[in-house]
Amino acid sequence: MNADSADSADSTAPASPSRRRALAAGLAALGAAALPGFAAAAPAARTRIVLLGTAGGPTPKALRAAPASAVVVGDAVYVVDCGNGVARQLALAGLRLGALRGVFVTHHHSDHNADYGNLLLLAWAADLRTPVDTWGPPPLKRMTRQFLRMNDVDIRTRIADEGRADPATLIRAHELRAGGEVMRDERVRVRAAVVEHPPLRPAFAYRFDTADRSVVFSGDTRPSAALIELARGADVLVHEVMYLPALEKLIASEPQAARLRQHLLDSHTTAEQVGRVASEAGVKTLVLNHFVPGGDAALTDEVWRAAVAPHFKGELVIGRDLLEV
Ligand SMILES: [Zn+2]
Ligand SMILES: [Zn+2]
Repeated sequence: MNADSADSADSTAPASPSRRRALAAGLAALGAAALPGFAAAAPAARTRIVLLGTAGGPTPKALRAAPASAVVVGDAVYVVDCGNGVARQLALAGLRLGALRGVFVTHHHSDHNADYGNLLLLAWAADLRTPVDTWGPPPLKRMTRQFLRMNDVDIRTRIADEGRADPATLIRAHELRAGGEVMRDERVRVRAAVVEHPPLRPAFAYRFDTADRSVVFSGDTRPSAALIELARGADVLVHEVMYLPALEKLIASEPQAARLRQHLLDSHTTAEQVGRVASEAGVKTLVLNHFVPGGDAALTDEVWRAAVAPHFKGELVIGRDLLEV
């Protein structure tokens, strides 16, 4: 989203050393096991959900990184959205770039796709040796092709110099035009729903079902019946949120204040609404994500909690960068 001029001086570190140690230890404990119900019997690895970046809006912020999340199943990493810095956030989370198996872009606002190509290129330059499938609205195929062409010098040099495979043979882009099942492998089944984030169409929410968990990522949307249907009964709903009182203060001085406010309400979800969406979907845990404003240190966890909690009686998690759910 664009109305994110709320950046203020902030200095919160992305994660404590203990959190990073915990993430790294968790990763080390993961094996390459397939999951019961999906493939050959093997010890189930718990599905992990890692928030990589939790700020909404394209302007880089000190307080939170740009939107991106990871679902980790066994030794495979699936990334939802590729905001600026997603590859570094994966490194901070202790997740190996070479473990990347899938990338799911919700929509083509730059806070969600600015590092789509960079994630793939940097994973390839690191230790990616296996294919990666990517999904998102059109023109994802063209974007992928043009990105590789733009980086032709580096790519040709590394192929010749380091004996790497051509990344064009590893990256398989798929365009989505409607909801439904997106993919299924031995670890995970992914479904999508078309959400409401005008003027961008289509914009998607994604649901991941694994042997032990289900998690839904809303992407950017106003309250959406299709999202509620997709999220029905899920363990975890990771949903965007905006705090309207702070935004109203920000836009008050704009000549188009009323129109801006309406635009926000047409394409995003307020704190009160997100609680109602989670209640209606019947999810166990609601994780707030894509905070707007995302750079305002005055909006503490308590502020967000107080705004949402009256409308949702399940577990409420105030997301932060590198938080594992
Ligand atoms: Zn956004
Ligand atoms: Zn957006």
